[in-house]
Amino acid sequence: MSALPTFLDVPRFCAACGHELAPKDPKLGGWPCPSCGIPSFVDPKVAACVVPWWEGKIVLVRRAIEPRVGYFSSPGGYCERGEPPHHAAAREAFEETGLVVDPGDLLGVFAHRGSPVIVIYYDCTIRGGGPPRPVSECTEIGLFAPEEIPWDQLAFSSVHEALCAAIAHREMNK
Ligand SMILES: [Zn+2]
Repeated sequence: MSALPTFLDVPRFCAACGHELAPKDPKLGGWPCPSCGIPSFVDPKVAACVVPWWEGKIVLVRRAIEPRVGYFSSPGGYCERGEPPHHAAAREAFEETGLVVDPGDLLGVFAHRGSPVIVIYYDCTIRGGGPPRPVSECTEIGLFAPEEIPWDQLAFSSVHEALCAAIAHREMNK
């Protein structure tokens, strides 16, 4: 898997007042601002995705944007601050594929040491908007039965793990 994009790891300036930050305080886990006193923190990014099934096939999207452009991932994206993850997953799925989905059972929470991203995956029910079509941030929809999944063309290890969980979930809930 290729490296994730460069995320901010070390902030230099206070977002509240613009003053240069002091070095990281290990006890605080953040960077104190010597001017206004508000500490800065670098938090994980939280993403939420769904695994929709269309006529017995898993819906994947071929990515049109970095990272991992050209590879398949699941519909989904970053949660906005204050937005519940299941809402973010449904919003992003609609924006990317036109599908109106209800996220349901949790398929898993995927995170790897050193990665700034935590990904939450949901099973989902399609309520409308089909058939899926590429709308934004993807160039192509991939529809794959479990035995047809292009495992070597998946964008992230979390997609691989989530699809395994989704297939097992469907088998259990048949
Ligand atoms: Zn400040």
